[in-house]
Amino acid sequence: MPIPKWSIKGIVDEYDTCGCCGRRGLKRTVALMPLDADGNEDGTAEDVAYYGTSCAATALGWTQGKVTDTARAAQAQQDQRDDYARRMISIYAPIEFAPIRDRARVYYGRNRGQRDTGVKASEEVAKLLGKARAQLADTTTGAARPSRIEDFRRYLVLFSREGHIYRVEQVPDDEAGRQAQDSAAQRHTDRIGGSLAVVAALDAESAREVAYADDLTREWNTHAWQAAHA
Ligand SMILES: [Zn+2]
Repeated sequence: MPIPKWSIKGIVDEYDTCGCCGRRGLKRTVALMPLDADGNEDGTAEDVAYYGTSCAATALGWTQGKVTDTARAAQAQQDQRDDYARRMISIYAPIEFAPIRDRARVYYGRNRGQRDTGVKASEEVAKLLGKARAQLADTTTGAARPSRIEDFRRYLVLFSREGHIYRVEQVPDDEAGRQAQDSAAQRHTDRIGGSLAVVAALDAESAREVAYADDLTREWNTHAWQAAHA
């Protein structure tokens, strides 16, 4: 019988049962993707097995330490891909159905080297969004992550006098909290000669990206928030 081969995709807190020996109550499991005879990943999230580190070590013929290190590194990469996906959705989802000219201005504004190269902005935007949504919907190392405009939250962004972001705060849901936050931020930026912006995004990191983007991107960002909360 051929020995099953696996690649480690990450660490999962949500599954506490080893898929190999059935041991329960594990602090975490390791997500293992089956590989075909040529060492290529052979499957989707449904084919992933979740093993405790000791069974994973046996299955791979590795030490537990190597399993844990590899799983941590793989998880860090997953998290980075999630962060990138959230940034792409926060920038581009609001312009997905904008007039084609606006989509082109936003896309080429961020990808100047692709202007006049035959790369079509609307296709690139659709591709970027498709990939980003697939990344956040992937359940290999945990439940699907929020990815829709309806999942955006608002962030108050404080700029220094030089136009650098020095603080990002989530806007509270209640009106009193919003006003208190706004007047405190107003006082602060007045004192340092800075400025304020409110943007909508999937997380604080994406909010920075939106806040630094061009006016057109920010206009559509505001539209999208208003349309989702009308
Ligand atoms: Zn086990």
